[in-house]
Amino acid sequence: VVTGGQPAAQRIPGGSTDPARQQSLRRHNLALVLAHILSGGPAPSRADIAGQVGLTRTTVSALVEDLVQARLVTELPALRSRTAGRPAVPLVPAAGTLAAVGIEINVDFLGVRVLDLAGEVLAEKVLAGDHRSSDPDRVLRSVATLVTTVLGRLDGDIPVAGACVALPGLVDSPAGPLRLAPHLHWSGVDVAGRLATVRALRGVPVRLANEATLAAQAEAARRGPESFLYVSGEVGIGGALVRDGRVRLGDHGWAGEIGHLTVDPRGPECDCRATGCLEVFAGQDALRRAAGWELDRPVAELSTAGGPAVVEALRQAGEALGIALAGAVNLLDVQQIVLGGCFAPLAAELVPAIDAELRRRVLSAAWAPVQVQAAVVGDYPALTGAATAVIDAVAADPASWSARIA
Ligand SMILES: [Zn+2]
Repeated sequence: VVTGGQPAAQRIPGGSTDPARQQSLRRHNLALVLAHILSGGPAPSRADIAGQVGLTRTTVSALVEDLVQARLVTELPALRSRTAGRPAVPLVPAAGTLAAVGIEINVDFLGVRVLDLAGEVLAEKVLAGDHRSSDPDRVLRSVATLVTTVLGRLDGDIPVAGACVALPGLVDSPAGPLRLAPHLHWSGVDVAGRLATVRALRGVPVRLANEATLAAQAEAARRGPESFLYVSGEVGIGGALVRDGRVRLGDHGWAGEIGHLTVDPRGPECDCRATGCLEVFAGQDALRRAAGWELDRPVAELSTAGGPAVVEALRQAGEALGIALAGAVNLLDVQQIVLGGCFAPLAAELVPAIDAELRRRVLSAAWAPVQVQAAVVGDYPALTGAATAVIDAVAADPASWSARIA
């Protein structure tokens, strides 16, 4: 779950007796040990962790006891050892002991997905809707109802650790506001503040992030330390550059708005008020219009629908994606592109036209052909990324989560 590099273990130099310093080192080391248990590899024992983080076995054992007390870590049955000595006890993330709430507000749906520390889905629900040019108050009331319904399905004693909201627009701080979401026609909306008043979320942190950023983080968590340009196909098109498993956010957190790269300045007007952006050629609504479909039909059906209008809609979208992505690759030198959102189930149909443009336009294509693949994370990846962001916040400072070990 936790991606990226982990900080080194810290010891108290010269046996410092400063209580504040000891407390801060303990918190740091708790996070370090928990990160190893959450890392997704084979379940480590206390001795494995001690060997990896450079702390004594005794220190690691004390930290693990605290994490078990806090219901963040569970011990599996001991493995029979082949040599003398105590048998190793594998340590895994605790299942069903906390609720990490991922929420997504998008142009044609609202969603809530609740994960536990082990990454299992405890509850989820997605509601189709039409939020184009919508009233934020009305939509946020629907979100509140949806969150309340989904959290109402959990066992009553599972505490909510926090919520993270995936948004189809510009966010520069976890506290918000949402600066701009072109298709919703929202600007300056205090989404975190409004949702913090929902009874089921009262007293827990509510943070915001961009939808494509969160989807890319979910993809990166599955792929490990790879580098790729993630493209998220929704009604809008978002993106994120991932280097060595970490999303690069830019100066403000706004990087990756690939949907507003200009494909043809003489093209149709975009919801952002510019003309000829990638979205007006390859977003979900563009695909539906080109195929002659209503705006509520699932675009995933394009992969099997057939017929000349559908084939031409996919070719046009692939060509526009290829033109925009070629520009991005020339600028960023990234060799792998991951198609997410609605583009993942359409990858087989889109890739030929994308590839043709990449071969034509990327200067380095002869030496390092760009690889285009479908995302491996399943439906609604930003919901998974949002819930995972909550887990990451708990993992970053377990002592702040549990009064039992604070
Ligand atoms: Zn635009």
